[in-house]
Amino acid sequence: MTENPFFESWTIPFGMPPFDRIRPEHFPPAFDRGMAEQIAEVASITGSAGSPSFANTIEALERSGRLLDRVSRVFFNLDSSNTNDALEAVARDYAPRLAQHQMRIALDADLFARIAHLYARRASLGLSADQFRLLERYHLRFVRSGAALGSEQKVRMAAISERLASLHTLFGQNVLHDERDWQLVLDETDLDGVPEFARAAAAQAATELGNEGRYAVTLARSSVEPFLTFSARRDLRRTLWKAWTARGTHEGASDNAPLIREIVALRAEQARLLGHANFADYRLDDTMAKTTTAVERLLLQVWEPAKEKARDERAALETVARAEGLNEPLEPWDWRYYAEKVRQAQYDLDEAEVKPYFVLENMVRAAFDCAGRLFGLTFTERADLPVYHPDLRIWEVRDAAGTHVGLFLHDNFARSGKQSGAWSSRYRDQEAMDGPIAPIVVNNNNFAKGKPTLLSFDDAKTLFHEFGHGLHALLSRVRYRSQSGTAVRRDFVEFPSQIFEHWMSAPGTLRIYARHYETGQPIPEYLLQRLLAARTFNQGFATVEYTASALIDLELHREKAPEAVDVSRFEREFLERTGVPKEIGLRHRLQHFQHLFAGGGYAAGYYAYLWAEVLEADGFAAFTEAGNPFDPELAARLKDIYSAGDTRDLMELYRAFRGCEPSIAALLEQRGLSAPQ
Ligand SMILES: [Zn+2]
Repeated sequence: MTENPFFESWTIPFGMPPFDRIRPEHFPPAFDRGMAEQIAEVASITGSAGSPSFANTIEALERSGRLLDRVSRVFFNLDSSNTNDALEAVARDYAPRLAQHQMRIALDADLFARIAHLYARRASLGLSADQFRLLERYHLRFVRSGAALGSEQKVRMAAISERLASLHTLFGQNVLHDERDWQLVLDETDLDGVPEFARAAAAQAATELGNEGRYAVTLARSSVEPFLTFSARRDLRRTLWKAWTARGTHEGASDNAPLIREIVALRAEQARLLGHANFADYRLDDTMAKTTTAVERLLLQVWEPAKEKARDERAALETVARAEGLNEPLEPWDWRYYAEKVRQAQYDLDEAEVKPYFVLENMVRAAFDCAGRLFGLTFTERADLPVYHPDLRIWEVRDAAGTHVGLFLHDNFARSGKQSGAWSSRYRDQEAMDGPIAPIVVNNNNFAKGKPTLLSFDDAKTLFHEFGHGLHALLSRVRYRSQSGTAVRRDFVEFPSQIFEHWMSAPGTLRIYARHYETGQPIPEYLLQRLLAARTFNQGFATVEYTASALIDLELHREKAPEAVDVSRFEREFLERTGVPKEIGLRHRLQHFQHLFAGGGYAAGYYAYLWAEVLEADGFAAFTEAGNPFDPELAARLKDIYSAGDTRDLMELYRAFRGCEPSIAALLEQRGLSAPQ
């Protein structure tokens, strides 16, 4: 047997994993040894003769599980970005074992006794502010995992966590399989209305699928959206829409409905064991929002204004549709198509005219440049480091003084074996407990590859969004790894990412980086002005689509008898009761709503994007008021937010930046919504 790279110390610069040597069969023994090591480490903490101290308990825990962390980071990143049958099998096998392992530590009575002992004396331990908060968080995390429950209840908590881990894994795999199994393979004659950039991407996709000379539309959002926006073929739009919204709904092995029922029932049971009325209450208790009432209040503040705006938008769409000879009601597969026509008419703005100015390569450079002007970072490509796929690009990040900050990995293209959507993750977190450790950050996107790759305005926003998460991890300056960068509450973590989108659409950025892919000419001023003027266009649609998904998430996780939920009926009744326009629907139908069910992170938490948008819109207004998007003083204060990780109270952190608490006014304005009556 060849040596297992996880059992060696890594010698590649900056702690990069040796991707070229890691094989699927290396993971199981590495997971096993990693778990065993951590169990031994915890046993030596609980077995230590001295009375509990911050150093021998909390810091010792921070030091534990290093091998397991290293294996897990590599494994779960690869399983999301570049999976295969072998990795999927390991995921199915190890997801429940890892959950069991975590629960074994979280429910360790001796360990919890030490933490509780310290927690009770926290005021007199002489802790610094970050240590004090770390101790509080440890205590809360253990309590929320069930450490304070009776032994029978603990057994049940552990069993539920283990089962949930399996269900989450299966849910994600089912969606991925449905996406992989379906393509719309077309010929030139089927491409009426489809512009050059989308044709090129479809040709590339067909080639990769072994259909050279033809065109393939896949179920990646970056493939679906342009086709629904431009194809004049209503029959094909309908076919595509039906397939897209049917992911996870097919009867048989990949049907996600039974999984959802079991997941929400188990979550509700855990919440009840911990003394909460339902899962949403439990989840929100540890967020900035705190309560379901606060979340509902926010969602309802935008809900009616959004529906009202969507009604106006629909009327405009119908006028165009009638003029074009459509005599039937508008359907969901029509909205984007006619919206694009209305946009062209109202703003004289043609997506196909804009897109040649958004070259991926240039927009990446724009993002780097903004990070440089705001925070003093520079990015240098490192082509000498190993990659797990040829599409991966690696950049070394340095600060203004030239000091190494970390590595930034960029994985931008859609392919089979890659989860859909866009996300940011890490192979290693910043920390400084036993000397400085620099972060290794990865951003994933699912852009359709072209020659060159051209982005839509929304794609470019996504690129900046994920890069904002990346900066949050890169700029982290904390001592303890549990407080590193993005380790903040979920409804705050979208603030650093969403606010960064504003620098993409800043005219100063676009005038430099939005350049035509053939001529190299900057975007004409008239086009830029139209683009910016059209930013609130179709925001009724976007807000309805998003808010409906946030509301159904909250409702499902407050359901009184979740074990009896008929998923399709629940969705249908929700849509009727809340009055979601049928030609809009949900952004994510439940059966492929990976935020909620392919993991627990955003369950009862999809509202977080809107919550963070209140902060983000209000926060960016500070730069607008200053008349300079790169105002150095504001940038320095913003950098404090990116650097603080979870060492401080989040609202306090925001107030230190803005001088006051946020108001919702800037959000409504940015979405072009009128204030609710
Ligand atoms: Zn995000």
